[in-house]
Formats: sequence, structure tokens, C-alpha cells
Amino acid sequence: MTMKPIYKVDLTSIKDSSGSRLELRDQITLPDLDWEGDRLLEFVNPWWIELEVTNVSRGYQVNGKTGGSYRLDCDRCLEKVQLPLETEFNDLFLPESPSQQEEEARSYNGDELDLSVTIIEAIILQMPLKVLCTPTCRGLCSVCGTNLNTVACDCETESFDPRLTMLLKWKQDKGGGDDGQSQTEEH
Ligand SMILES: [Zn+2]
Ligand SMILES: [Zn+2]
Repeated sequence: MTMKPIYKVDLTSIKDSSGSRLELRDQITLPDLDWEGDRLLEFVNPWWIELEVTNVSRGYQVNGKTGGSYRLDCDRCLEKVQLPLETEFNDLFLPESPSQQEEEARSYNGDELDLSVTIIEAIILQMPLKVLCTPTCRGLCSVCGTNLNTVACDCETESFDPRLTMLLKWKQDKGGGDDGQSQTEEH
């Protein structure tokens, strides 16, 4: 991930003694992210961050939390929604070396930890699968595009049984609904 670092920890004060710990409280500025469905995930900056960094001899253990609000278009009606989020992260950082790679560990270089990926991953993993303006959002009419939360339209969509629609379409594709042999040959 290439981006402007979101948060860096200066390790100078704890690098020389194993077991020493750094406690930090700060504010961070998060960049907008591309989200599924051609949407933009916007953060209401700043977010707060609290963390502990412990020198564990072979590297550094980082445990922390971050929280704030974000804005995203509702999954169904596409209206902008603002919601709070809080998430935790726990990562082990080991010195960067080509020979020694641990799947679960992150790497660092010099006297600084870059927590950007740790923070972004923690946020993404905590995001709800569906972001809705209200749990009962009625979405947009699939025919005319009207936001059904504000106005009702006259389109006939709800009376349709989707299974019936599929069946009709399938019969049309087959060509008139008879059991033609062409269909069998194609498969
Ligand atoms: Zn909605
Ligand atoms: Zn409609």
C-alpha cells in the first residue's frame, strides 16, 4: 500500500531496553478510500488513536484502538450516511530482513514504526457488510430510480415474483418455451 503515512511511532526512547513500553494518545487524519459499488468511504477527520508499543527484544508489539466517524452512501438508496466506528489492532513488528519472514508479523526499518497498514486494515475489517441509512431503507425503485423512502412511485415491481421473472426469461431465451433440442446441444 503506497500512501502518505497515517501514523508513525518514534522508537528511540524504548529501543535500547527490552520490556520498555510507550503509551500514546493522538489524533490521526485518514484518507478517503475507494469502496465497493463505486462509492467513496470518507472519514470525518480527525480520528482518535490510543496505543501501547512494547519492546519485545526481537521486535515491537503494538496494541491499540482507534475511532471516529465515516460517511458512505447507503447500500440501497445511495443517500449519504454518517456512522461511528471503533476498532482495535494488535500487531507484531519485526525488523525487515529478507531471510526471516513471519506470516503474521509486519516489518519495520530503523527507529520508526509506520502504522498506516495496521490502522487501515483494522478499520476495513470492522466495517459493516452493509451500510444502510436505516435498517428499513426501502431503496430505489428498480424501474424509475425514485427513492422509495421519500416518495412512492407507480411502477409495478413489488408484485413480481422474481422466480417467475427468471422462468419467463429462461423460456424466452430458449425460444418460445418448447423443449427444443438446440438448448441441449449447446451444453
Ligand atoms: Zn437508504
Ligand atoms: Zn418506480
